[in-house]
Amino acid sequence: MRRCAICGTETTHEICPKCYLERYSIYEFHPYIEIKVCPKCGKAYSRGWIDKEAALMDTILKNFTHDPEFKINSFEIENLSENNGAVQIGGEFRGKKLTYELHFELRQKFEVCERCSRLYGGYFESIIQLRAENRDIEEDEIERAKKLIDESIENADYPTAFVSKIVEKREGIDYYIGDRNLAKKIARKIEEELGGKVTESKKLSGRKDGREIYRTTYSIRFKEYRVGDIVKDGAKILLVTNAVKGKGVDLAGKSRVLKNPKVIVKRENIKKTFVVNVDGSVVEVLNPSTQEVVQIEKKTDYSIGDRVLYFEDKGRPYIFPDFDWK
Ligand SMILES: [Zn+2]
Ligand SMILES: [Zn+2]
Repeated sequence: MRRCAICGTETTHEICPKCYLERYSIYEFHPYIEIKVCPKCGKAYSRGWIDKEAALMDTILKNFTHDPEFKINSFEIENLSENNGAVQIGGEFRGKKLTYELHFELRQKFEVCERCSRLYGGYFESIIQLRAENRDIEEDEIERAKKLIDESIENADYPTAFVSKIVEKREGIDYYIGDRNLAKKIARKIEEELGGKVTESKKLSGRKDGREIYRTTYSIRFKEYRVGDIVKDGAKILLVTNAVKGKGVDLAGKSRVLKNPKVIVKRENIKKTFVVNVDGSVVEVLNPSTQEVVQIEKKTDYSIGDRVLYFEDKGRPYIFPDFDWK
């Protein structure tokens, strides 16, 4: 222990905290806080366009300096309003606990951020086209694709991660995407999760600093067949059990990989009926349209009362064990 050079109380330092604080200031604060705020999205600027709260804290911290011996334990913004606010600071100096409330004036300047100026200006680097082979796109496919697009945009942190335009056409939907790399990622993801095939095409859209600028279109073509459809693949009649992976089952219940399938019955046209009789090689079912008993060659095990899928191809009836594609 030593004694304070000024007041003589015992202290571990040359000058006790009380005398020190009377003579010196241990922090400096410039109480005019100025931030740029985007009127479109509400983000604010500080090392890039970020959440307003974080940008405000950043700017306040830039305006605040302190003695290295002043250990700060808490630093919080309070009573924030349009034009002013305060920071509550708690800390310790030479063993003495201190709290300060520092008021500041807030000046918000409105300026449209880079992302919003591009987004609202219709900027795009890429188009994602959703199409389907020989059929309309399903509502469900649009919803799932949209979810993948939204998620990818949410998880991307570059300023061009946005959809600037959506165009619905008779043959499908076009999404105008701000960023070409993101568009590529999204296209691959849709292909992976929904099935289909992506083709890429480029179109010259202009020049920038002597370089040619291309716009890339990713066209995703969903397969004609969907889960639950009946297809003919070579000589085989198959029920599609997984359209994304291209898998089906044949009339005997054996798994098959689809090679060159052609849709013969769409799932919405398949009716359900049930088995009324089974003997050695024949299954009898009710024709769901006429309620007449129809005999069908037995290709796999059926029992009386089983629900089955019923359809006809070229006038000939077929059944598959009941399958729920939903
Ligand atoms: Zn003293
Ligand atoms: Zn903005």
